[in-house]
Amino acid sequence: MTRICILGGGFGGLYTALNLSRLPWAVMPEIILIDRNAHFLFTPFLYELVTGEMNEWEVAPSFAELLANSGVQFVQGTVTDIDLDARQIEVNVGQPSTLTFDRLVLAIGGETPTNLVDGAAEYAIPFRNLDHFHRLNCKLELLEASTQDKIRVCIAGAGSSGVELACKIADRLKDRGRVRLVDRNEQILSKSTAKNRKVAELALSKRGVWTDLHTKVEQVTDTDITLDYGNGRDTLPVDLVLWTVGTSFSKLLQKLPVPHDQRGAIATEATLQLRGYGDVFAIGDAGGCVDANGQVLAATAQVAFQQSQYCAWNIWASLNQQNLVPFSYIPLGEFISLGIDGATASILGRFDIDGLPASLMRRFAYLLRMPTLQHQWKLGAYWLTKPFVETLRKSM
Ligand SMILES: Cc1cc2nc3c(=O)[nH]c(=O)nc-3n(C[C@H](O)[C@H](O)[C@H](O)COP(=O)(O)OP(=O)(O)OC[C@H]3O[C@@H](n4cnc5c(N)ncnc54)[C@H](O)[C@@H]3O)c2cc1C
Repeated sequence: MTRICILGGGFGGLYTALNLSRLPWAVMPEIILIDRNAHFLFTPFLYELVTGEMNEWEVAPSFAELLANSGVQFVQGTVTDIDLDARQIEVNVGQPSTLTFDRLVLAIGGETPTNLVDGAAEYAIPFRNLDHFHRLNCKLELLEASTQDKIRVCIAGAGSSGVELACKIADRLKDRGRVRLVDRNEQILSKSTAKNRKVAELALSKRGVWTDLHTKVEQVTDTDITLDYGNGRDTLPVDLVLWTVGTSFSKLLQKLPVPHDQRGAIATEATLQLRGYGDVFAIGDAGGCVDANGQVLAATAQVAFQQSQYCAWNIWASLNQQNLVPFSYIPLGEFISLGIDGATASILGRFDIDGLPASLMRRFAYLLRMPTLQHQWKLGAYWLTKPFVETLRKSM
């Protein structure tokens, strides 16, 4: 039987697996999804865990639940080696095991590089997955339970992750929080629209978040952070440092014997196939997010999601003697959450909204992006009934 192995169950991998399972197969191939975690993570809602606006089951449903009755097999394990010529992968599932493949999808995402600055790997917390959220939450709970008056938080990177985290943490800590956002660029959200940037600047200043632009983080220790302002430097006491700067590519992919671009991303054809290995596809952050013209796109869920549709189709086409199609990206817009019940949005580059309407629209748009209809229903019903259940509980 033809076997399709998909490495990584994020926006690229999980959605490719589900899309593949829905295509019209004469004989259904074996579709195997491999991830080191037992659950998918809807990263845009990771911030909502910090403020307690959402529960883990909403943001990180298990693969077992999402893949039930789909025909996709799930293997929980860490991929440790890929041999493209022998068409096999090594997976640690508690013990080493080998899987062969007829088609392979590389969708293991990216990593946050914390080795750019002295001490960041030891003392700063990245914010990319549930483990990072648990580390952050644990530290915040300890600080909240302490007797210290103010809680000093410094966030490196004023891209969307840094800005969204700053607003959520400021809302969680309220008057006790002293939140500082540091970026070497001259403005926050350098890749966003001017309108989103303006609304975000207002949201940060309303929450008293201090923003240091044109500023580099030089060193992090367990008690302080050293900042280089260009015209001088300063060492500030800090209780918590969060690191949201940059995306790097997994070593597993970097060592593959295929061409890589100058960023270190694997070079792919417009059809998302690896150069020289037509049976292997690379998508999402792992594939370097490149469009059909070779233009580098932002590493977003939106890109990975759209690539998953092309990837599934192209795998199906390659096994059914049909033509493969080049990936074509349609930018749909951008949502940025700004604290509890706040957001700013730019839709199709034409409409801008902010505040509660943007926050509700963001929730609804992301609800429609949840991987399965079952999870959409479960979440939708929970969100609709939650205000009534909470009012009832309070009145009892
Ligand atoms: C906090 C946060 C918020 C974000 N918000 C937005 C947003 O609002 N909108 C947007 O468009 N994008 C957003 N992004 C970006 C978006 O999450 C990524 O671009 C997207 O997840 C990329 O999808 P992917 O499938 O390539 O990788 P991922 O979704 O990261 O999935 C990779 C998967 O591979 C698994 N994996 C990795 N290595 C191995 C291994 N060796 N063995 C087995 N499994 C492995 C991981 O466990 C993971 O499940 C956000 C990112 C973060 C971190």
